[in-house]
Amino acid sequence: MNKNQLQQHDREHLLHPFTDFSDLGKQGTRVITSAEGAYITDIDGHTMLDGMSGLWCCNLGYSRREISEAIYEQLNKLPFYNSFFQCTTVPSIELADLLAEVTPAHMNNVFFTGSGSEANDTNLRIIRRYWDLKEQPKKRIVISRKNAYHGSTIGGASLGGMSGMHKQFQGLDYIEHIQQPYWFGEGGDMSPEEFGVHAARSLDEKIQELGPDNVAAFIAEPIQGAGGVIIPPETYWPEVKKVLDQYDILLVMDEVIFGFGRTGEWFGADYYGMKPDLMTFAKAVTNGYFPLGGTMVSDRVADVIKAKGGEFTHGYTYSAHPAACMAGIATLNILREEKIIETVRDTTGPYLAKRWAELADHPIVGEARSLGLVGALELVKDKGSRARFDDQCTAGGVCRDMSIKNGLVMRATGDTMIIAPPLILTTEQIDELVEKAHRALDDTARAMA
Ligand SMILES: *Cc1c(COP(=O)(O)O)cnc(C)c1O
Repeated sequence: MNKNQLQQHDREHLLHPFTDFSDLGKQGTRVITSAEGAYITDIDGHTMLDGMSGLWCCNLGYSRREISEAIYEQLNKLPFYNSFFQCTTVPSIELADLLAEVTPAHMNNVFFTGSGSEANDTNLRIIRRYWDLKEQPKKRIVISRKNAYHGSTIGGASLGGMSGMHKQFQGLDYIEHIQQPYWFGEGGDMSPEEFGVHAARSLDEKIQELGPDNVAAFIAEPIQGAGGVIIPPETYWPEVKKVLDQYDILLVMDEVIFGFGRTGEWFGADYYGMKPDLMTFAKAVTNGYFPLGGTMVSDRVADVIKAKGGEFTHGYTYSAHPAACMAGIATLNILREEKIIETVRDTTGPYLAKRWAELADHPIVGEARSLGLVGALELVKDKGSRARFDDQCTAGGVCRDMSIKNGLVMRATGDTMIIAPPLILTTEQIDELVEKAHRALDDTARAMA
């Protein structure tokens, strides 16, 4: 099929995720046909620097034969076996071992799933099981944050705090949402430091309002990813820690984006010095080469759910899929052997911070923030008042298109432009990324004038 035929069949038969189906037909989809290193190429032969690592997953880029060969060899040896009914497979044991090594010291057990959404559903099941076994069945409510993203199953979407999603389904009734730590958008006249404390105190207020005896857990991404790379003020996590220390409540950190090196530490929990009870992962664990997710379970929780009798009636056919686990093992080995995360921490992260901050001088940029290899730009019409161009967030969509035209994949969340490039990016490629982003901003300013 040629490009037009592919687009037509796509329109006729494929329902895409998070897509306005009526709109998709008008423009036609971009057909991505190949990728190498940090670059993707579409059917027209247009090559772009992938500033989003696929969908936050291809942290090692696209050319790692070690991963694809590990999958291939496993598929030829034992393509599938389940972990139900007292059975197991070698790759699942080896990956569980490796994960226990690279995650915080107090986390030594893993429950595998097929995705991040499923892993958050698993978290809901584990949380309830834990409190039931502790004989505190009143502890049912899970607190999350507005504008959070925790996946798209009913459980994941209920935990998530995106209003657009909640309008289209019935959320679980035991989940509550508090303020997000989004200083640029919601900080008003407060300094970032004041606002960080303020946003964290809303957790305390919510716990008091609900009654601590009724609250089972608090779930949060270390940095909100899909919500717009919302890097909390430095005061936020220490204050949350103080609040949580006062109450007997589990902390779930959703590390689906920030796990495996994005901040320059292995996990966001390491970066912020937090000690989660459960930790969701997916995406980059296999470098995007094979679907795999899971949740890391702390000793505190594992000791309870493993010690007491009775079946935990939960699991997925593809929990601990052997080929997925081989992809995970190969990915973690590369991260360790090539010191990818150390490079982000010591070299490329600081370099991106310096170069990305220069974009704040652009007339339509209200804020340029970054951390490790993740960044965001707030597009504004007026820097002083932080006023946007319009209520429909047109500028974000325009900037995304201009960016692609200039050979860089950036994503738009409203009028916030976000990047999360592969962790293998060199300093030269960071220069290329910043220059292309700059050109996209110039083009956007012209188009919006
Ligand atoms: C992507 C994402 C999920 C959902 O993962 P899927 O594999 O798409 O189900 C959950 N949490 C966060 C923070 C994510 O970014």
